[in-house]
Amino acid sequence: MFAFRETFALDPDPASGSRVEVAFTDASLDLREGDRLDGVLAALTDATGVDFARLHQIHGADVVEVDGPGHGIPTADAQVTAARGLGLMVRVADCVPVVLADAAAGVVGVAHAGRRGAELDVVTRTVERMRALGAVDMTAWVGPHICGRCYEVPATMREEVAAVVPTTYADTGWGTPALDLGAGVFTQLAAAGVATTTVPGCTLEDERFHSHRRDGAAAGRFAGLVWLS
Ligand SMILES: [Zn+2]
Repeated sequence: MFAFRETFALDPDPASGSRVEVAFTDASLDLREGDRLDGVLAALTDATGVDFARLHQIHGADVVEVDGPGHGIPTADAQVTAARGLGLMVRVADCVPVVLADAAAGVVGVAHAGRRGAELDVVTRTVERMRALGAVDMTAWVGPHICGRCYEVPATMREEVAAVVPTTYADTGWGTPALDLGAGVFTQLAAAGVATTTVPGCTLEDERFHSHRRDGAAAGRFAGLVWLS
């Protein structure tokens, strides 16, 4: 169910048992919209003990603050919270899932950064919203995504995106124009003063993950998750 899951004590009171939990699911769960999604979400809640706030993602840069379930599914590509016991979810299949936390401040966030999200700098918008909630010393986890050697794009698209985020400029393993979205997001997080941990895995190459480039319209979705418990 999880390709990555780590737990961090919430300072300054580790004896309280309060924790930040960070996870990325794998292809054993398919979190794409559909009839079966409720059952998959129920399995995820069984495994984690929390309900997850979801987003209707549109490759934008809007960030929503959520403080509990029952707000419907907002249209945005990032969400933040300081609420205990509420999971945040962002779903991907090649785009970059980014999870953020300031354990000491008890503020967490998630962002969906594809090509448009990188151009629009959705991760910096997310960092700004977390700071508004009191976050100071943030860590980001950049989850599995299509790598710069696999994400082939037209030359004009590479030029357009690299004009905005230069570190995305890449070549595929076979020498054609490509974009390295992970490198671009890493640069944006560094510029925002956020320390970043990379969770390895190219979604196209590694069948533990869902990939739109590999599986087309039939591709499932996996998720980046974070919650305060
Ligand atoms: Zn790759």
